[in-house]
Amino acid sequence: MSTSNGFEKNPPYGKHFASELLVIDKGEGSWLWDEAGAKYLDFGAGIAVNALGYGREDFAATAHDQVKKLVHISNVFANRPALELAELLVKSGPFAAVHFGNSGTEANETALKFARLYSLRKKGEGHHKILSFSNAFHGRSYGALSATPVPKYQDPFRPLVPGFVSSPYNDAAALEKTLTSGFAAVIVEVVQGEGGLAQLESGFIAALNTLCAAHDVILIADEVQTGLGRTGTLYASFAAGLKPDMITLAKPIAGGLPLSATLFGDKVNDLIKLGEHGTTFGGGPVPSALGLLVWKAIHAPGFMEEVKAKGEYLAGLYADMKKEFPFVGEFRGLGLLRGIEIVARKEKPEDLCKTIIDGARGKGLLVLRSGSNVIRIAPPLTITREELKTGMDILTDVFRGLKSV
Ligand code: PLP
Repeated sequence: MSTSNGFEKNPPYGKHFASELLVIDKGEGSWLWDEAGAKYLDFGAGIAVNALGYGREDFAATAHDQVKKLVHISNVFANRPALELAELLVKSGPFAAVHFGNSGTEANETALKFARLYSLRKKGEGHHKILSFSNAFHGRSYGALSATPVPKYQDPFRPLVPGFVSSPYNDAAALEKTLTSGFAAVIVEVVQGEGGLAQLESGFIAALNTLCAAHDVILIADEVQTGLGRTGTLYASFAAGLKPDMITLAKPIAGGLPLSATLFGDKVNDLIKLGEHGTTFGGGPVPSALGLLVWKAIHAPGFMEEVKAKGEYLAGLYADMKKEFPFVGEFRGLGLLRGIEIVARKEKPEDLCKTIIDGARGKGLLVLRSGSNVIRIAPPLTITREELKTGMDILTDVFRGLKSV
């Protein structure tokens, strides 16, 4: 039962993020309402999923029509929306095929499996290692978790999948030392969405491109959080000069329904045999039909430029905060995937971060955390400048209440 203040205590469906969860009832544009009727500005978008906001008539009509027409058919057969979406995705880069799944972790699991398959068939046994980087987050299923070298996620679930190695993010010298023979893949995020919003540096990008090509190692760009317009371009990896062999996508791809995609080129596709990998739900007609709507919306003239511009606008608002509050650290990220680092002096930064997030919620703003001490701003991409200003004003208000920290 939810309480009168909109909270559900110890909800019976899993200990995911908190022991008390706000019960959200509905949304419209960039706004959400809880069951008790309180209204919130949404700076989290369901963890960077709801790129086009809430309450869309076009989504509702498309989903309704597709559910009536064909709700599910499995991959024993094809369906038209998935075929059309696959074609758009494949044409978005040097790709030959897409494997659909239902979540970010599945997209990465597929990429890791296909990289090992490629390596085994091309180079033979003994080249199966996977390299990932400090503070990465690639998901919670065993392969993706094994590539997520963060003790709080990994330790309760050991032993992990063998053959996973990690190296410091943005350390080209360490990369050069580690990435020698025996590797099948490197998996990397251009902006570490869950890991504090650190961003790939150009020297490290060059080293990744060069070393992966030199050792014939599959370079996987995990764009589950950064892809499809979130950072102001279709793919953050291409924009940064990274040359991935595979891109993984999920979160915003179907406007809030579960869908993921792993994109790969001929060299991998040619080696996969029929039936070696599959899915029951992946690429279903309903999420794919919504995926087509999302694709069209983010490709509307000026859409991504506007995401970039709104990100710059946020940077300006942050600059004012930085002047006023000593505990405000760096501004990180790209486009509308941004982070404000909290550098408390008396309190632990992670405790202060929690106080800020709770305080913002009390004043009608929902924000997320990234890493231990970064306030993450990942609103619907359709948010207006006025709404961004409203949210940053609320945060400023919360910060003013903390000035003695
Ligand atoms: N990869 C990245 C970069 C992510 O940010 C996430 C989720 O936050 C995942 C993978 C896992 O996605 P999912 O939770 O849909 O499995």
